[in-house]
Amino acid sequence: MDFDLFVIGGGSAGVRCARIAAGYGARVGVAESRFWGGTCVNIGCVPKKFLVMAAEYGAQAEDSRGFGWDTQKGHHNWSTLLAAKDVEITRLNGIYKRLLDQAGATIFESHASFIDSHTLDVRGQRITAEKIVIATGGHPTSLPIPGADLAIISDDVFYLPEMPKRIAIIGSGYIAVEFAGVFAGLGAQTHLIYRQPLPLRGFDADIRENLAEALDQNGIHLHPGTTPQAITASGTAKHITLSDGTVLEVDTVFFATGRAPNVASLNLAAAGVQTAPNGAILINGALETTTPNIYAIGDVTDRLNLTPVATAEGHALADTLFGNNPRKISLANVPSAVFSIPPIATVGLTEEQAAARGSAKIFLTRFTPMRHALSGRARKTTMKLIVDTATDKIIGAHMLGEDAPEIMQGIGIAITAGATKADFDRTIGIHPTAAEEFVTLRTQTRSYP
Ligand code: NDP
Repeated sequence: MDFDLFVIGGGSAGVRCARIAAGYGARVGVAESRFWGGTCVNIGCVPKKFLVMAAEYGAQAEDSRGFGWDTQKGHHNWSTLLAAKDVEITRLNGIYKRLLDQAGATIFESHASFIDSHTLDVRGQRITAEKIVIATGGHPTSLPIPGADLAIISDDVFYLPEMPKRIAIIGSGYIAVEFAGVFAGLGAQTHLIYRQPLPLRGFDADIRENLAEALDQNGIHLHPGTTPQAITASGTAKHITLSDGTVLEVDTVFFATGRAPNVASLNLAAAGVQTAPNGAILINGALETTTPNIYAIGDVTDRLNLTPVATAEGHALADTLFGNNPRKISLANVPSAVFSIPPIATVGLTEEQAAARGSAKIFLTRFTPMRHALSGRARKTTMKLIVDTATDKIIGAHMLGEDAPEIMQGIGIAITAGATKADFDRTIGIHPTAAEEFVTLRTQTRSYP
């Protein structure tokens, strides 16, 4: 065999797996056909967060007036933002590639596909490997409606030559809600079109309700309970017809309607690797596919499509296969954040899930954060704890409000460690913060059953 391990895909999952395995002395090859660092670094988490930060500065300039600053918001320059973002992404890109080099992995800047379960076609070259890891990630999907090709997807949004003045975003998942905040914050007339009554299906109901209110307060035009029917172009403008008969004229239509695994060109059948109907590679608890020497990690398995989950899987797999340290990662209590404005962060069960599971106590607070007492901005923070009545353990924590992702990381540690409500109650707060509310929630809001 040419390699002990061959990793297909140089994103968060693949790079971590390859780097750690090479560090253990394995002979490792990695193929990446597009960009090192994958979606997260290039067209996902990282550039998205720069765009969110840019959008927040506008509102912060307005808010500073309440604190005595004579600040004028002025004009935002989209090209300056994208150029600065590109410089940083290029730097990170280089770091990912260098990490692999330094670890001693052999790099192939090319596509790879299966010839059989131990053989790959890498740019016309036959390469054999004892073990193969599929870490090819996913891609954004759009809806099959007339004129869909006139719209953009999240891959495109980071390279738009101009900031749209009017945008219609379809969907209300992570990506839709985050980019609604970006474009509204940068001054675009922003429409959010979604088929549910509230955005972010699957999140806690209080958070969803309060998010809808916050989006509305940010000037975003909400179109709940609607689906797009067709898109047409007239000159540079686009017209999008909704199921309720509304026709919107915008500059850009943006599908944020989910992602699908990247499996189409892998020739998986040649290796006997099976997929679910949506293309997700089927794996067992040990990250093994239906072919014993082939593994799959990250978004291509379509379980929890989050970068830290992908890297954790890559690391655990390398430890297991080459580090004499067999281990699995737990997908329970994975904290996550939505970088909406204001952001959301969550860990554990929603109130609905907890109520369906058994007896639970709910502690909920909603307040005007200190900053907005003076800024005058109508923006509230929501915080919520869900407690298992039988064990007193915290089984869910949710927050909508500034700094929520920064706060939730620590709450995630507490929940992973099995903290009880009594542990939260005996923890002294840091004053004055929003975070201290998590340790001062004394009044039960409701309980189940
Ligand atoms: P999501 O799965 O989160 O959301 C998809 C949205 O598209 C939902 O609102 C869904 O509606 C809607 N939709 C899907 N099909 C249709 C349809 N046929 N008609 C109308 N609406 C439809 O996908 P995203 O694209 O937002 O993000 C993909 C994944 O990437 C996320 O799930 C997450 O795992 C990851 N991600 C994580 C981020 C983070 O951690 N901050 C940021 C960005 C992405 P409905 O709810 O009704 O199904």
